[in-house]
Amino acid sequence: MADQTTALLILGASGDLTRRLLLPGLGTLLREEPGRPVRVLGADRVELSQEDWQSKVRDSLAEAEVPDAVAAPVVSGAAYHQTDLLERDQLQALLAEVEAPVVLYFALPPAVTVKVCALLEEIGVPEGTRLALEKPFGDSLESARALNRQLLRVVPEGDIYRIDHFLGVNTILNLIGLRFANRLLQPIWSAEHIERVEISYDETLALEGRAGYYDHAGALMDMIQSHLLEILAFFAMEAPATMHAEEIRGLKAQALRATQLWQHDPVAASKRARYAAGELEGRSIPDYAAEEGVDPERSTETLAQLTVQLDNARWAGVPFVLRSGKALGVAAKQVVVVFKAPAHVPDGLTDTSEPDRLILELKPGSVGLELSMNAEGDPFDLEQKSLHAELGKPRMLPYGEILGAILDGNPLLTIRGDEAEELWRIVEPVLTAWRAGEVPLEEYPAGSAGPDGWA
Ligand code: NDP
Repeated sequence: MADQTTALLILGASGDLTRRLLLPGLGTLLREEPGRPVRVLGADRVELSQEDWQSKVRDSLAEAEVPDAVAAPVVSGAAYHQTDLLERDQLQALLAEVEAPVVLYFALPPAVTVKVCALLEEIGVPEGTRLALEKPFGDSLESARALNRQLLRVVPEGDIYRIDHFLGVNTILNLIGLRFANRLLQPIWSAEHIERVEISYDETLALEGRAGYYDHAGALMDMIQSHLLEILAFFAMEAPATMHAEEIRGLKAQALRATQLWQHDPVAASKRARYAAGELEGRSIPDYAAEEGVDPERSTETLAQLTVQLDNARWAGVPFVLRSGKALGVAAKQVVVVFKAPAHVPDGLTDTSEPDRLILELKPGSVGLELSMNAEGDPFDLEQKSLHAELGKPRMLPYGEILGAILDGNPLLTIRGDEAEELWRIVEPVLTAWRAGEVPLEEYPAGSAGPDGWA
């Protein structure tokens, strides 16, 4: 943990991300690591008194059950600066007021972030300033490259923290322990033993009033382009020697560089669909296209599936199916590994048709192993038995883990520039094919398992 007090300057301090995720995450961080020296500063164009900002910080710490003695100095040190961040002079004055070292956390609309970065290049930032950037990181390969070039003119790569809050989710980091800290799984983690991998994030939640954001993003960009491909990278990377950030990030980037669309064909590799009216958990869900703020002409998908392959010696030929969607009947947030059948099952045993599977549940965390064994009752029959382990409750919220690492100057839980570009390189041909109408937009009733034939 860093000894020096670091200023966490949240740009966009009045926004949704700050209120719902950053401040609550910070609360859990300070509850678990109460000695952290941090000054919580906010800047936004919205008018807010010092007392209002301090009470937002106080409420978040109280919600996380941070002891009063820990919270009091953090709250009294919290300061708000009403600033139009697109006004050069105001931005410059803000930076001049803040004592280094500082983390500039961009909780701003993406287009505003890009413009503020351009201004920072002109103004300059104090040595050692860290920039934390939210997703989406660009909206295409070209814009991600341009943003990377822009950022590197402000600070070196080591001070750029591209956020994907899934990297702060303990169950995802657990893939490293699961794969590399036991003797059992490591030797079978390859195409020789694994038939197929499914990484799913199916939600029962529908649009829930988020059309302003979601109708421009859709399931592919919102979930697969970022979070699910990052899980894939953890799943498929080679063995690290240490947990050093550069080692892990280098191995993830290597795995992503090997990742290609299934059969190198964006049409064969992808499916998309949109929910229609239906029943979900006893509620009537309206047709997505009729939701307030949705433009049906945009043909935004609420369910996307992308199949990729890794063109390398370990994974050649294995399909990785990435899928995420909204308003589905059953929530499934999991990684499922389907193993190949054994080379030979002794004659005389009735073969089972079910393959062995490893299931990593992301929320709440658990690991299950389904194995073929002798059946109860008839020992010459086979059946599937399940070994199950619950994973402990995470010590803090994902944003707490991520903020802690950034304050420590450790980029382990963030995305390197080349990784961010690879993520776009993988999905961009699919977006192009979809925009050209080469993949039909299918439909599924809200509350169902998705369109017929997808499973
Ligand atoms: P919001 O629009 O809720 O918040 C952005 C804030 O920035 C607003 O208070 C806005 O003020 C302010 N702002 C805009 N322009 C300026 C300016 N020129 N000067 C000063 N302040 C300005 O967005 P979110 O909080 O939802 O999102 C922020 C970022 O986080 C985005 O990149 C988003 O993709 C990402 N993100 C958001 C998540 C979420 O759940 N909200 C989840 C994961 C990532 P005003 O209201 O007046 O425009």
